[in-house]
Amino acid sequence: MSEPIGSGVSYFDYNATAPIRPEALAAVVEAMQSVGNASSMHHPGRQAADRVDAARRQLASLIGCSPGEIIFTSGATEANNLALRAAFTAGSPLVTSFVEHPAVLETARAVTAGSPEDLVLLPVGGDGLVELDALDQVFAVRNGGVVSLMAANNETGVLTDLRVVAKAAREAGALVHTDATQIIGRLPVDVAELDVDLLSLSAHKFGGPQGVGALYVRRGSPLPHRPLLVGGGQERGWRAGTLNVAGIIGMGAAAEVAARRLGEEVERVAALRDRLERLVVGALPGCRINGRRDQRLPGVASITFPGVPADAVLAAMPDVAASEGSACASGAPTPSHVLLAMGLSREDAESTIRFSLGYATTEAEVEHAAQAIKRAVAQVRAALAEADGPC
Ligand code: PMP
Repeated sequence: MSEPIGSGVSYFDYNATAPIRPEALAAVVEAMQSVGNASSMHHPGRQAADRVDAARRQLASLIGCSPGEIIFTSGATEANNLALRAAFTAGSPLVTSFVEHPAVLETARAVTAGSPEDLVLLPVGGDGLVELDALDQVFAVRNGGVVSLMAANNETGVLTDLRVVAKAAREAGALVHTDATQIIGRLPVDVAELDVDLLSLSAHKFGGPQGVGALYVRRGSPLPHRPLLVGGGQERGWRAGTLNVAGIIGMGAAAEVAARRLGEEVERVAALRDRLERLVVGALPGCRINGRRDQRLPGVASITFPGVPADAVLAAMPDVAASEGSACASGAPTPSHVLLAMGLSREDAESTIRFSLGYATTEAEVEHAAQAIKRAVAQVRAALAEADGPC
């Protein structure tokens, strides 16, 4: 058998994707060894449907909703598309922010293409917090529509106070959507407490398989029925297509484990992240941590190494897997739109690495990464000094 991808590497890219939890893997394998379309009426079909129902309950319990409020999708990208297409109506505002994931930003641009004046982008401060006061200014002149703000930023981990968002939106008669992809399974989330109408999530960020996710739709939300996929009418007509039974069962198992271990994992991961930041900043004076320190996900460290290009540092430490900006943007020649929106210069944005930790990160990996980062930065600085030096 070939070596598993990622072995021998200290993995610091949980925000791109988390390793699958053993319980989720076992559930996926078992499900894939069974036959049954959850829409079939015979015994194997009913068994598949029962297990999908159980996974729906597990996921609902993780976010505090009822199982009937969940629509299974292929991931958060699809959930975001579905949410914004349903919630937006031309002539009323679609309010989002400059630091959203492209799965929201591009969808927002696409749905408002015929009425670009409806798209309102909120700015962020230097600490990465979305400027929520700007919501009042928007609603002072326009009412209704939809507000879509991410619960936690994928690059900095900075959190949005969704209760403040929901309050302002309710007073203006607007719907609330949140892209909660990065927060689910990493911090406690209760949709009723947050008072949102729509919430997107993705299994592979909390230890489930890739290619499966969900959209929560609050029961009774005044939402027109605008599916992206029509066909066999699955998911109450919201999302046609044969259900990804194994993926859904794997997501349910991951949700169940995440819910059970959340309290312990939050503390442990935050302590490891803090240790990584202390070791790196202590050894490399001048480097800076991005994002509001006391309002972040426990597992994210976004660190700028001024004057040292991130791609060169990453290449100099191949046994540490971390990201330059976000994975979705990597490969693209433009620097992170999130860091630029926070006011970083292009050069500083290109000298920033995101380390994201999670449930399986160990202290040994943190120690190893800190040493590797120190060595890699020194190596890149030396190479730059040599290149700049007299010839
Ligand atoms: N939103 C955010 C905030 C994300 O971080 C991601 C994944 N990088 C997505 C949406 C897209 O999720 P998926 O991979 O499930 O389509």
